Amino acid sequence: MKKIAAVIEMLQEALPGRVVIDPDVLESYARDETIDLAAQPDCVVRAQSASDVSTVLKICNLSDVPVTPRGAGTGVTGGSVPIKGGIVLSMEKLNRIIEIDARNLIAVVEPGAITADIQKAAGQHQLLYPPDPASLDTCSIGGNVAENAGGPRAVKYGITGHYVTGLEFVLPDGSIMTSGGKYVKNATGYNICGILTGSEGTLAVITKIYLRLVPAPVHSIDLLLPFADLPSAVAAVSELLQHGIIPATIEFMEQDAIRLVAAHLGQGMPCADAGAHLLLQVEGSSQQACHETLESIAAACGIEGADVFVAQTSLQQERLWKGRRSIREALREESPVLLAEDCVVPRGEIAEFLAQLKEYLHGRSLRSVMFGHAGDGNVHIDVLKDAMSEEQWKDMLPELKHEIYRQAIAHGGTITGEHGIGCIRREYLGMAKSPEEIELYRRIKQAFDPHGILNPGKIF
Ligand SMILES: Cc1cc2nc3c(=O)[nH]c(=O)nc-3n(C[C@H](O)[C@H](O)[C@H](O)COP(=O)(O)OP(=O)(O)OC[C@H]3O[C@@H](n4cnc5c(N)ncnc54)[C@H](O)[C@@H]3O)c2cc1C
Repeated sequence: MKKIAAVIEMLQEALPGRVVIDPDVLESYARDETIDLAAQPDCVVRAQSASDVSTVLKICNLSDVPVTPRGAGTGVTGGSVPIKGGIVLSMEKLNRIIEIDARNLIAVVEPGAITADIQKAAGQHQLLYPPDPASLDTCSIGGNVAENAGGPRAVKYGITGHYVTGLEFVLPDGSIMTSGGKYVKNATGYNICGILTGSEGTLAVITKIYLRLVPAPVHSIDLLLPFADLPSAVAAVSELLQHGIIPATIEFMEQDAIRLVAAHLGQGMPCADAGAHLLLQVEGSSQQACHETLESIAAACGIEGADVFVAQTSLQQERLWKGRRSIREALREESPVLLAEDCVVPRGEIAEFLAQLKEYLHGRSLRSVMFGHAGDGNVHIDVLKDAMSEEQWKDMLPELKHEIYRQAIAHGGTITGEHGIGCIRREYLGMAKSPEEIELYRRIKQAFDPHGILNPGKIF
């Protein structure tokens, strides 16, 4: 207790006005969007520069005080929750979009910048930053890099890590370093940006990010395809990909997802009676080209003449995507306690994986809703607690998680596609990774953070 008090005093002296100790404010840094997880920090530092970050880390490293980096706190695996106490190092004020370099197709941003704001800034130059997590209006780019976040556009454009060309970061000893930059190829030594991407705040604190941009698509159409059931919707995805049709997004939703979203938003959703849906965005050089692709899609999926909903206006487009992005909130409204899993399997395995999982869940009288990124094999499996007692739910969870992960791995996949390990999947890492690989992680951690101060208790 004495040690932490002395550290807070040093931080207040070194960074006046940036250190928060008001318990009411600290409370709001005790959680992210993970269900049923909270831990209050001893203090929060709102860094305004890489130099502030360096100061915090130097002081904490000398005293072995834990530091948990925090972006916008939208993570769903407890990554920014300070489960070992200590300091939360918030990036919320380090949020400038420094430059959109249209000549080099690169954005230079600070980690606290909101992802949607980067997309808007790029859009003003007819450029696109493609990764689009459903939380894009609220999450930060630093959090996206630290989690290697994905989103619906991954099927065509890839995920956050595919766009990081350079990082400035601060090591736990306070040294500020840069790896990569505005160039898009780099075969010079180890790929440090690659190691930091997806490192969940356990190796270094990212303070500047160089992102690759692409030309923005000129025209796009959004459409909702209805299917009788989930297996036929998922089978259509394989057909599309085998026919060489790669839409910008291929999202799938079970009927229950659409039904709950409609109730949550208080608005009707198109094709609400279908057993399952695919939400596609098709891009093209002209509206006509988009419509031609649309016809090929209907033919490839064998649904010519079906009641496909094509969003004709930006309002309709926005309504479709708002629906997709609101699934998680709608589910939380239906059952405030639920298990939200995020497995990934090879695309051709989705149908069988989900069918077997459904059977298992039905057998245990558990209600589930499945949705997600069918185009890249990343499926969200939400199991609702409903009226089950707290005790029964908690007793059953470990076995349930184990079974979901076991089935994902048995189908050639892994336990998380985009949300990360954090602290909630830590004890299951060994199901997906060999002891030798986890030992290698430990050695990498030791090289970056020998005192183990950065985000302890996360990943392994
Ligand atoms: C409604 C909803 C929808 C979502 N949809 C998606 C989705 O489609 N795809 C997806 O991938 N995720 C999704 N997420 C999860 C979440 O939004 C992402 O993981 C996001 O990348 C977290 O960003 P953040 O800024 O909120 O980070 P935080 O939650 O604050 O932190 C996440 C992790 O990053 C670390 N971190 C943050 N900033 C830094 C930094 N500067 N340096 C080092 N480490 C840092 C933290 O320590 C923590 O481990 C969703 C969440 C919600 C609530």
